[in-house]
Amino acid sequence: MAGQTPNRIRGTQDMLGEAQLSFQHVVDTFHRVRALYGFQRVEIPIFESTAVFARSIGETTDVVSKEMYTFEDRGGDSVTLRPEFTAGIARAYLTEGWQQFAPLKIAASGPVFRYERPQKGRYRQFHQVDAEILGAGEPQADIELLVFADQLLHELGIADGVTLQLNTLGDGPTREAWRAALVAHFEKHRGDLSEESLDRLERNPLRILDSKDPRDRPIADSAPGIDAFLTDEAASFFAQVTAGLDAAGVKWTRNETLVRGLDYYRHTAFEFVTDRLGAQGTVLAGGRYDGLVGSLGGPETPGVGWAAGIERLAMLVGSVPAPAPDVAIIPMGAAADAAAQGILADLRRAGVAADMAFRGNMKKRMQKANASGARFAVILGEDELAKGVAALKDLSAGTQEEVALDALVAKVRAG
Ligand code: ATP
Ligand code: MG
Repeated sequence: MAGQTPNRIRGTQDMLGEAQLSFQHVVDTFHRVRALYGFQRVEIPIFESTAVFARSIGETTDVVSKEMYTFEDRGGDSVTLRPEFTAGIARAYLTEGWQQFAPLKIAASGPVFRYERPQKGRYRQFHQVDAEILGAGEPQADIELLVFADQLLHELGIADGVTLQLNTLGDGPTREAWRAALVAHFEKHRGDLSEESLDRLERNPLRILDSKDPRDRPIADSAPGIDAFLTDEAASFFAQVTAGLDAAGVKWTRNETLVRGLDYYRHTAFEFVTDRLGAQGTVLAGGRYDGLVGSLGGPETPGVGWAAGIERLAMLVGSVPAPAPDVAIIPMGAAADAAAQGILADLRRAGVAADMAFRGNMKKRMQKANASGARFAVILGEDELAKGVAALKDLSAGTQEEVALDALVAKVRAG
């Protein structure tokens, strides 16, 4: 006996219709634009050895310490569903010998998994588009990625109201000096910090700047910025990035206390943020991660990249028109039913989007054709068939003419 239907897992999504259409529009636009920028598409596994993420993202980050879907497989190995693309791409760069292609510009899209509290714009299985440049330490790589991100938002029609917030996290010495100043600042306010941030203060104080807890926000917002601690080299790198953005006409604002949630960032860090999605305001984020490949046991390799949540981009995009068929076929009678299959196949093989209902009388089928937004209806009666013609009805103009069956494809294509 059948039991109760199991529920969809919390934080996952089933998409049909409007939600899927805007989702698909984001993915299609991303892949169109990444090709313009010469980024190759890659496919990588949805799961990896847990070490791939634990070692690169950092044990003290939220993602690794509490958000990963980690389990033992049947062979007893610890595996993790990818919580992001970057670490897996860096692993592939090392294990697949992609180093020979450096500098390598690659892009990917697909599901990622994080055990988080589900809410609007925050899921446990969500989807990202991702762009990375591996093996390039030049600021030109940072600039290219940012101009790409900016163009993507413009082509999606959502650039208005989305701001690029830009920071540098400097090089090693810069980070050490800034970290010491931050620790001193947070120690002064120890009594007002959230419990979680007290823990961060011990393990990873920079991350307090990224806290979402309202108790931490005023303390984080009044923390010293990084500028006073930048080495000449770090300052010059950042100046080259901002000069490139200005030359490309990409608007940005400086956020001197912006840090990224993951440990591996150096130099450029950025987020494209909006206030149109409530608390889930970051739509696209990334930066330079020169330490990442090294943390996976590879040679020191520069890298820079970003990821964007497809669902958040799709929410900003809103509804996208459903594609309409060019032609709806309406057969009348059993002989016409069979002949219609031939015409339908011919049209589709000629690249014309055509559809035919499985059932229904003439009136029902005509209503359906109108509702589908089809440009034409092809009406096939037995008399017409005997003459080798069909009635072609222009559904928007309401006009109708007789067309020879062998001229139908050309006629429809001509519009
Ligand atoms: P947040 O601060 O919102 O938790 P994050 O810093 O964890 O974001 P990243 O690791 O930078 O996010 O991931 C890149 C993008 O993926 C985010 O900017 C956001 O658009 C999207 N994203 C992150 N987590 C989720 C989620 N749980 N559900 C939907 N989209 C998400
Ligand atoms: Mg997060």
